[in-house]
Amino acid sequence: MSILVVGSVAYDSVKTPNGNHQNALGGSAIYFAVAASYFVPVSIVGVVGDDFLPEDKAMLEAHYIDTGGLSRVHGDTFRWTGEYGEDFNEAHTIDTQLNVFAGFEPELASSERKSPFLFLANIDPDLQYRVLQQMEERPQLVAGDTMNFWIQAKAETLARAISEFDTLMINQGEVRQLAKENNLVKAARYVLSQGPQMVVIKRGEYGALSFTSNAIFAAPAYPLETIVDPTGAGDSFAGGFMGYLAASRDLTTAGFRRAMIVGSVMASFTVGSFGPDRLSCLSMGEINDRYREFRRLTYFDGSAEAELPSLTCKDRS
Ligand code: AMP
Repeated sequence: MSILVVGSVAYDSVKTPNGNHQNALGGSAIYFAVAASYFVPVSIVGVVGDDFLPEDKAMLEAHYIDTGGLSRVHGDTFRWTGEYGEDFNEAHTIDTQLNVFAGFEPELASSERKSPFLFLANIDPDLQYRVLQQMEERPQLVAGDTMNFWIQAKAETLARAISEFDTLMINQGEVRQLAKENNLVKAARYVLSQGPQMVVIKRGEYGALSFTSNAIFAAPAYPLETIVDPTGAGDSFAGGFMGYLAASRDLTTAGFRRAMIVGSVMASFTVGSFGPDRLSCLSMGEINDRYREFRRLTYFDGSAEAELPSLTCKDRS
């Protein structure tokens, strides 16, 4: 099964306590597409400028990502400049230059309108909604992301787009802002009351939580000694999550739980380099090894006992 992703394509300049890097390939659609491409064919819809480098297009094509929907427009590619302090969980935007992204109007090709899996990465919620309206068939799974900028600037159209998502994937700070609620359980309940059947809350080094109306699941982040750059970790998580679901076609509770772990696996590689360098040169062996490490990391109880041994009140006194 293939996945269609619509989102930003960028050149990012990022500073972290471990170094800095100028004009690395980035954008929500790029990280998502590369992560998902290890599992299923991916088509990307986005916009780039005259400055989009041939080697970046070649990297996408080496991953068999269909770039037919990547339109090239006269001008510069979107540029984002960000900084992380000691807290790697929060990006501080220093500068955003929309450039050709300002006039982005996604137009899906006829084959893309039938895509069974759709990811609406972080873009203007008006565009997310218009993409949904272009779909000829309701995809088996529609997931989407958003960010603080749209929560502030476009609350109404964002609510309309989110009401059409099956799964909202959002980071911790932003779900609090969206729900106007600090408690994550209550914030998730709020999102579930707005239409989605699932909300996945990305929590950086604390992992990710998924909520449905009757279950909560926690996936840890892989404990790493060095994080070079967390940019793109959330989109890589989403790419691993949806890539696994589309490849396995397993939309059961167990399938979604495995997808949360695969998301964490892919994000754990992204944070190991500036830009998508590390993410883009993985072998399936490395991905499977890390998946197995996650199994070991999270396995804690093979016994059939559902109750813990305890002292009676009498023993305690
Ligand atoms: P994340 O996975 O949340 O770390 O997303 C990182 C990516 O989001 C970066 O590669 C940026 O280029 C991209 N980005 C930053 N600001 C925006 C924006 N306003 N709209 C779309 N994409 C953005």
